Amino acid sequence: MQRSFKRSGRKDQVNPKLHVRRDDNVVVITGVAKGKQGKVMKAFPKLGRVIVEGVAVVTKHQKARGQGMPGGIIHKEAAIDASNVLLVCPKCGKATRNARAVGADGVKSRSCKKCGALIDA
Ligand SMILES: [Zn+2]
Repeated sequence: MQRSFKRSGRKDQVNPKLHVRRDDNVVVITGVAKGKQGKVMKAFPKLGRVIVEGVAVVTKHQKARGQGMPGGIIHKEAAIDASNVLLVCPKCGKATRNARAVGADGVKSRSCKKCGALIDA
């Protein structure tokens, strides 16, 4: 079952970082949405969770909240655990883990473990 969104997972880490960030293309590697690809809409590094476009869509029965916020049944993506997604390399198109690479300007960047391309360049 899906764990609560409010779990305290990474709270005690000093510098929580995820291997994926917003606007990354990722593939889900486990769970009901296994194999689905989508863009990271939002990342929650402190919780270790991400919201991926079109993945884990839940139906909410929402009450109207005044002007411009009508109630009704809405579909919305829920956050999933970041460990369940892999980054898709923009260069070779494969799902990959990240390596670290130091660019020509000395700035550390993520790189593709499979083809070595810099991802943040
Ligand atoms: Zn690659």
